[in-house]
Amino acid sequence: MDEVDTKKNLNFHQMELDDRILKGVAKLGWLCPTLIQEKAIPLLLEGKDVLVRARTGSGKTAAFSIPIIQRILSHKQEAKEQATRVVILAPSKDLCHQITKVIENLTIKCGRIIRCVDLSAKVEKAAVKHMLADRPDIVVSTPAKLVIQLQNGTLSVKESLQTLVIDEADLMFSFGFENDLKAILDFLPSVHQSILASATLEKEVLALKKIILHNPVILKLEEPEMASASQLSHYQILAEEVDKAAVLYTLFKLQLVKGKSIIFVNTIDRCYRLKLFLEQFSIRSCILNSQLPAKIRCHTVSQFNQGLYDIIIASDELHVLDPSVHEKRGQKKKILKQVAKQVVSEAGVARGIDFQFVSNVINFDFPKDINSYIHRAGRTARGNNTGSVLSFVAVNEKELMDSVEEHLKTGYDEEGSIIKNYQFKMEEVEPFRYRARDAWRAVTKFSIREARIKEIKTEMFNSEKLKSFFDENPRDLQALRHDRTLHTVKVQEHLGDVPEYIVPDSLKHVVGITTKKKKSYTQRKRNVDDKANNPLMVPGIDYGKKRRV
Ligand code: AMP
Repeated sequence: MDEVDTKKNLNFHQMELDDRILKGVAKLGWLCPTLIQEKAIPLLLEGKDVLVRARTGSGKTAAFSIPIIQRILSHKQEAKEQATRVVILAPSKDLCHQITKVIENLTIKCGRIIRCVDLSAKVEKAAVKHMLADRPDIVVSTPAKLVIQLQNGTLSVKESLQTLVIDEADLMFSFGFENDLKAILDFLPSVHQSILASATLEKEVLALKKIILHNPVILKLEEPEMASASQLSHYQILAEEVDKAAVLYTLFKLQLVKGKSIIFVNTIDRCYRLKLFLEQFSIRSCILNSQLPAKIRCHTVSQFNQGLYDIIIASDELHVLDPSVHEKRGQKKKILKQVAKQVVSEAGVARGIDFQFVSNVINFDFPKDINSYIHRAGRTARGNNTGSVLSFVAVNEKELMDSVEEHLKTGYDEEGSIIKNYQFKMEEVEPFRYRARDAWRAVTKFSIREARIKEIKTEMFNSEKLKSFFDENPRDLQALRHDRTLHTVKVQEHLGDVPEYIVPDSLKHVVGITTKKKKSYTQRKRNVDDKANNPLMVPGIDYGKKRRV
């Protein structure tokens, strides 16, 4: 059993991959492989069994999908008959969906040569039969769904299976798929490549490893706790409570924030306070709330990933966003076994469901400790993408921020400040401040309580009462939105607009308000430069046109 040297640097085009895959990778905008991809792809192309210990966000899906696609393409050149050569198992429907999407994206330039079906998606029995009759190259499924098809003979891979992948293997056990997994093994040929991916190496995973992996390479990659300084920028604005609200309102309303954002606060009540505040300015957002059913949370995140929402407000109670943290640290002895099990499995649903393309993490409340900062910051700059963390820091949070900064310095090995000052002159946005103050005060404890009850009721209704309806009408579920306005605070229509006179002079050029008829070249150039230099601005947005948001 080898452990692998993790130092060499290899790029996608040096991996002897088919041009069509390289084009797919380029279309996804991936410039170079992540660490796990760099190490796993060559090994998997050689046909080795591999145990990958990696977290979500490391790029592990593509790490196993790329070699799978490459090997299928190579087989097809030899004109072998159509057969299902790859089975990928994941513990939830959402994960299966996510994996299928990655494969679809990677094979986008392969025409229809490679077919991949997702058995976990709710489809009629006859449709499943039809889908499998074509012997798709890749079948993605939960163990329970796969075992049915293997047992009733709709799918057979005994002669053809080349690669088996078990993703999020540790969750397979929390989700009670142990027996299904064992049953599946009886339907597989004795020789095939196996890949096991897991965030943790618990004893069940090690047991599974013994059964399915033969002389595997183990990839336990030491990943830095945070993305590099070139990938992830840190900013701070010193502001007290109401000013924080004013800055946030200004950033969004003047579209100074680039891309999708997750705003973090310290409690669920504060999530609602902020949502009700933003709502008054027609700024829509959704909340990730641990009290809502896990499925709703996953649905919200998956819609966020699809681009339906730009703003999520979350509190970092551990298990809402990262169950593994909860599992490690949150085990209060008093919790009954049953409750603990439920939490783990609920949390498991959220694990692996990755926030994608988050450009900004905004710490509206400064995190309570260093771990929490790291955890929040890890929601952006995933894979090789860039991102920024903008922290609003009140006087009483300053000490904490200094300690986070000290910690970051050791990680980044850099002199000088890591958390840079975000240039924002509070006195210049006085009218925004007045509006913000009124709107902030309008959100009372009562309205927050009302909003919480209202949302839970609505979401429970959606998830329970409409379950069967949505099962039959999945498109309607797609249309179900989680960023509805809660309306427990009176919304004044005019607040949705930003009249020109309240935009400070220094920001007028940024939002495209001009005082002169024609700007000089230098002025226009300065505007472009300002936008380019501002990490929180969206390149390509015509600020002039979008006065009302
Ligand atoms: P995963 O760990 O597979 O869930 O992937 C986490 C995120 O990283 C996903 O949003 C991918 O789209 C993204 N990603 C995967 N590989 C790369 C890459 N080489 N460069 C940039 N982003 C990537």
